[in-house]
Amino acid sequence: MLSRWTGNVWGKLGSCGNAVQTLMMRSPIQGMMAASVRDYGNVGSTSLPSVAALPVVYHPSYSAPQLKEGHRFPMAVFGRIHHRLLNQHRLVEQDQVFQPAALPSEPDILLVHDPDYLHAFNTGTLDEARMRRIGFGETTRTPILVERTKAEIAGTLLTARLAIQHGLACNTAGGTHHAYRDQGSGFCILNDLAVTTEVLIQEGKVNKVLILDLDVHQGDGTASMIKGSIMVMPQGDGTASMIKGPCMVLPQGDGTASIFQGRSDVFTLSVHCESNFPARKQKSTLDIGLPDGMQDKEYLATVAEVLPSILTSFRPDLVLYDAGVDIHEADHLGKLQISDEGLLRRELLVLDTCLSFGIPIAGNIGGGYDSDLDVLADRHICLHRAALRMWREHGL
Ligand SMILES: [Zn+2]
Repeated sequence: MLSRWTGNVWGKLGSCGNAVQTLMMRSPIQGMMAASVRDYGNVGSTSLPSVAALPVVYHPSYSAPQLKEGHRFPMAVFGRIHHRLLNQHRLVEQDQVFQPAALPSEPDILLVHDPDYLHAFNTGTLDEARMRRIGFGETTRTPILVERTKAEIAGTLLTARLAIQHGLACNTAGGTHHAYRDQGSGFCILNDLAVTTEVLIQEGKVNKVLILDLDVHQGDGTASMIKGSIMVMPQGDGTASMIKGPCMVLPQGDGTASIFQGRSDVFTLSVHCESNFPARKQKSTLDIGLPDGMQDKEYLATVAEVLPSILTSFRPDLVLYDAGVDIHEADHLGKLQISDEGLLRRELLVLDTCLSFGIPIAGNIGGGYDSDLDVLADRHICLHRAALRMWREHGL
């Protein structure tokens, strides 16, 4: 049932993280696509093309709406990431870039969203209170933002499909984790991570998904949709040891094995700064609330400890990664103190760990806030730099 790598190639040990040697598999050869930008819609994985290099997903609508000058949300950064990947840094060739051919269907979006909320958004009739929570002002009621929001879901879904097929793929947007079932929040309107998860589970492409949210802000919308997951942590493992450290671990309590009622197929892990937005946190399967000002060493140690532990106990078929760069020390909204090097090391650590477990990972951009869009784009591009390296080192 699972569209996973096939073959018998041993994964290579990466140069960072807790890499373990594990059976890695390669994708079957399928028909090549000759288009300069590869179109690929919401169809089954049987029509996915073969790839010779890391697949990168982009849609022109990612940066289409113009926000008022000085608006805090860096709408233009997604196009900038795409441009710099191809033209500035020349890290990616045009034939590595995939574009979703279609927007997600209504039934797909309704797998996680409320019909009345979706209708109001589609028709530009969201009430003032809901519009305020989202933060895009009158632009929220424009068709161009509706299209952009849905293109982001399509892009995240496509990235996940490519990751399932090839082991690793990266988006140039995505990670709208503050969107709830019936309302938006914090520049997020529809939840691309949740829709992607539910679509792939419904299709039977995966049985279990880990939503790995390392944005500086808690993934409250995602957590609210997928509450009550079952989690069993091995006793006395990393979770228990983290409690001794500077992190607050919720809802694990004393760190012994905990079992929660509810779904067993989706695990939401949010590692965020506890004092950052949102003030009222939701319960993820596992929340790790970090103190203000945390620096590289402690931050990386936290991720390095918790991620292998969850991959071991939960064994997801896919990791959907929200790689928010608002953990950076210069970010305008985040309160952590992660350096450029720390950011790159985090991406290498996350990708290397998942691939070493033989678990496909789809990288999404997440949040990041800076008035210099080139600088901000390059922070996001740490994800692609790490992915290009891991693609090579894991023999994908
Ligand atoms: Zn954020």
